[in-house]
Amino acid sequence: MSFAFTLHATDGTARAGTLQTAHGPVETPVFMPVGTAGTVKAMMADSVRATGATIILGNTYHLMLRPGADRVAALGGLHRMMDWPGPILTDSGGFQVMSLSKLRKMDADGVTFQSHIDGSSHRLTPERSIAIQHQLDATITMVLDECTPYPATHDEARASMELSSRWAARSRSAFVARDGYGLFGIVQGSVYPDLRRASAEGLIATGFDGYAIGGLAVGEGQQMMFDTLDITTPLLPAEKPRYLMGVGTPDDLIGAVARGVDMFDCVMPTRAGRTARAYTSRGVFNLRNARFADDADPLDSHCACPACTRHARAYMHHLFRAEEMLGPMLLTWHNLHYYQQLMRDLRGAILAGTFNTTATAIRAGWEAGDAE
Ligand SMILES: [Zn+2]
Repeated sequence: MSFAFTLHATDGTARAGTLQTAHGPVETPVFMPVGTAGTVKAMMADSVRATGATIILGNTYHLMLRPGADRVAALGGLHRMMDWPGPILTDSGGFQVMSLSKLRKMDADGVTFQSHIDGSSHRLTPERSIAIQHQLDATITMVLDECTPYPATHDEARASMELSSRWAARSRSAFVARDGYGLFGIVQGSVYPDLRRASAEGLIATGFDGYAIGGLAVGEGQQMMFDTLDITTPLLPAEKPRYLMGVGTPDDLIGAVARGVDMFDCVMPTRAGRTARAYTSRGVFNLRNARFADDADPLDSHCACPACTRHARAYMHHLFRAEEMLGPMLLTWHNLHYYQQLMRDLRGAILAGTFNTTATAIRAGWEAGDAE
């Protein structure tokens, strides 16, 4: 099984395709739940699959620190350890080194940092990141890059992008090709069109199995993110998958799918599920709110998840008020199911040529509010 992407239909610039991997196919556009530390929090692997998820994400930074890449490899790799036989994408670790570790020192060759857990010292280089992701048995490996902070001056963004380009080439050289496994490059360049172009051209010349768009959803706001996608996705080869990293809200997903993005990951649905925040076809609301105390309606009458088919909003409200662990479990399940249903609906609309009317109808549902 070779790693291959097939485009089935386009509607405007929105795309529907299938990614073939060593661990099974992935229909796109797709949302990848985040399994940070070898688990999608509050969910068993079977439950994640029951939401319709076909591919999940693992975090190299967390896994290299705990339990450690050697231990994951000794347990048969991430798929075996997690009981998730499907595709797994791992990030490079770079983003969380910058956002979570205590002391860190970047140089031209890599980054040295202290663990946020116990202060122990570690070093990540492009070659080391690729080797760790190999030990984890990642279906899709990401190059080590620097996620350019926002805002950045043009000079800062260029220097950062050029560093990422050099690391991408080193990552490519270090990657051990295996049938059905892929390596993605990451386009950087902040919000500057000339830098996005230079980054994309450099990566395409090196050659990757897919192209991620990094350095967005870092504070620039939705409109600037969409503007940057408008100038970036046309630079990428049509026959390769495109992955927008760390995005986003349901509205972000619709806007980015409309602009030709195929793959997404975000902690939002799982994190929100642990804090009583529900994403529904009638918008977002907080189940701790007193107005749900006697509400016998399902959380979302359009949803087929266990929380919505078996329980009332009042019960969910009670679980969160009483701090019962079933509350985060049920709401994480619901939020992931909602995200998967949203992506299935968008894919179906692209295949049917009705993307715009479907997107308008979904947004109208959010506007209508949660009272049926
Ligand atoms: Zn539900």
